[in-house]
Amino acid sequence: MIFRFNYFIELVSIILFFFLFGCENYNIRGKTFNQNDLKNQNFGIVIHGGAGTILQKNMTKEMDLRYRIKLEEIVKLGYSILKNGGTSQEAVEKTINEMENSPLFNAGKGAVLNSKAQIELDASFMNGKTLNAGAVAGVNTIKNPISAAIKVMENSPHVMLFGDGAEEFALSEGLDIVDPDYFFTKERLQDLKRVKSAEKKTALFLDNDLKNLKYGTVGCVALDKNGNLAAGTSTGGMTNKKWNRIGDAPIIGAGTYANNKTCAISATGWGEFFIRNVVAYDISALMEYKGLNIKEASDIVINQKVAKLGGDGGVIGIDKDGNIAMEMNTNGMYRAYMNSRGDLIIKIYSDE
Ligand code: ASP
Repeated sequence: MIFRFNYFIELVSIILFFFLFGCENYNIRGKTFNQNDLKNQNFGIVIHGGAGTILQKNMTKEMDLRYRIKLEEIVKLGYSILKNGGTSQEAVEKTINEMENSPLFNAGKGAVLNSKAQIELDASFMNGKTLNAGAVAGVNTIKNPISAAIKVMENSPHVMLFGDGAEEFALSEGLDIVDPDYFFTKERLQDLKRVKSAEKKTALFLDNDLKNLKYGTVGCVALDKNGNLAAGTSTGGMTNKKWNRIGDAPIIGAGTYANNKTCAISATGWGEFFIRNVVAYDISALMEYKGLNIKEASDIVINQKVAKLGGDGGVIGIDKDGNIAMEMNTNGMYRAYMNSRGDLIIKIYSDE
């Protein structure tokens, strides 16, 4: 009994010690305890469905609602995977698959068309624990490019595969292969026609309504109950893109980055500027080397560095402790998150 009482006193004093001094590790009776033994590991998920000139005045109530309902359904799916002990990799893949399958977003079905009215899809994935990564670019028969990116990471010695080779690999991995027609929607064909006719008259990126037609990429970042981060991004790129142009989405460090030491990031926007600013990695580097928090780092990269060069877009991020950032320098970004407390946030416009 006396032994038990002493043990009880010792345990209470350890808890008090952690509470007062935030000690990393503590040794008791030959066993090492740390703060995670006393508190549950935070977890959380953030998704985006693209950034751009998304103005309330151009959006019908019905469209606004359709996006919000879809974002809610998808973020809840990812959240339930994490809550039930699933990995961040699984949560990122499954949520992006849902967005790729929805014609609302510029990824998978409903992707934008290149200048020849063809589909060219790009995607990438990074695992924050292993720092392993995979990507595919310029594909048009792989139903879910994010799953192909994960297979490249897991089952090939490479990081990025392109075009026919990437499709051959996806087929050999047993992924769903579809006819390119599967991805086409009449809305995206209309977008292409509008951009092409405007291209003759005006500088495309100065026209706000047309800029809106260029974005809509999807992405997801997640932190699981084991403290592992993951990030993924999937896109059709930019309407009217030419010459097999590849954007930032399949480039590790530009459109996607994850590192358990810092954060997981997925970007959306005018890809050329995100490549030149190495956006996703730069946010992680500012956190690692300068000690900035995820909000400060995302703000500097999006609102100062990218904006200064004339680029626009946004990022979503989650750090190793579950803190969340959703930063943009555009009028809007379809975005949502859920955290371990069960808070659910869904937003479209920048001033919400
Ligand atoms: N970043 C993508 C690209 O440049 C486009 C987007 O985010 O919508 O390909």
